[in-house]
Amino acid sequence: MQFKDQNVIVTGGTRGIGKGIAENFLKQGANVLVTYSGNKAAADEFLTTNEEYKDNIFTDCFNVADASACEEFFERLPFEKVHVLVNNAGIRKDNIVAMMPKDDWQQVLDINLTGTFNMCKAAVMKMSRQRYGRIVNITSPCSHFGFAGQANYAASKAGQIGLTRSLSKEVAKRKITVNCISPGFIGTDLIADLPEKLVDEYKQQIPMKRFGTVDEVANGVSFLASEQASYITGTVLEVSGGL
Ligand code: NAP
Repeated sequence: MQFKDQNVIVTGGTRGIGKGIAENFLKQGANVLVTYSGNKAAADEFLTTNEEYKDNIFTDCFNVADASACEEFFERLPFEKVHVLVNNAGIRKDNIVAMMPKDDWQQVLDINLTGTFNMCKAAVMKMSRQRYGRIVNITSPCSHFGFAGQANYAASKAGQIGLTRSLSKEVAKRKITVNCISPGFIGTDLIADLPEKLVDEYKQQIPMKRFGTVDEVANGVSFLASEQASYITGTVLEVSGGL
C-alpha cells in the first residue's frame, strides 16, 4: 500500500498500458484519476472491472493535445494535491515519410509530445508548490531505433525523452522527479493491426522472444513513481525484454 493517500493521474488510463498502470496504483492504495479522449465504453468498462475501488477512482475526458483543455482539467481536479502524473496517452499513424500526410505527422506530434508537455506544464506548477512530485512519461524503443514507417511516432517519442531530461533539471530542487519508461512491444489495441508475420519477426528480434505485459510496464512505473526512487531523475527505464 505504498501509494496510500497519494493522488495519481494516468492519461489514457482506461485501456491498454494505462489501464494496467492505473490498476496497479489502485491495488497499492492510491486515488487514481484516469483520463481518456472519447472512448466512453472503455471508461465504463474500467469502472465496472474495478468496482471494488470505486471510491478511489475518478475519470475525465479531454484531448491532451489541447493546451486549454489540459489547464481546465487541472482546475477541476477532484483532489487538491497531485503526487504522481503518468503521461501515457498516445497514438500511432504509420506511413513512410514520402507518403505521410502532414496531418498525420502533426497529429502524432500533437498528442504524444505536445500532450506530454501540456500535462507536465500544468502539473509542475502544482508539484512545485507541494515541494513533491513524480512524473513518468511513456516513451518507446522506437525513439532510438526509429522503425521504418514510424517517423512521426519515433520523433514524438524521442521528443518526450528530451523534454523529460530538460524538465528533470528544472524541477529537481523541488523534490520533483521526471523519468521515462520505455515499454517494448505490449499486446494492446495500439499494435493490434500488426500483421501476424510481422509480430513473429519482431518476437524473434526480442532477446526474451515474447511481447511484454501491461503489468510488467506498470511495475516499472510504480517503482519510478515511488518515494524510494527519490534520487532517480531524467532517466529512461527500458521495459522491453532486452530489445
Ligand atoms: P492504446 O491501447 O491505444 O490506448 C491509448 C490510450 O490513450 C486510450 O486510453 C486513449 O483514449 C488515450 N488517448 C489517445 N489519444 C488521446 C488524446 N488525444 N487525449 C487523451 N487521451 C488520448 O495504447 P497503449 O498501447 O496502451 O499505449 C499507451 C502508451 O504506451 C502510448 O504512449 C504508446 O505510445 C506507448 N507504448 C506502447 C507500446 C505498445 O506496444 N503497446 C510500446 C511502447 C510504447 P480513448 O480510449 O478515449 O481512445
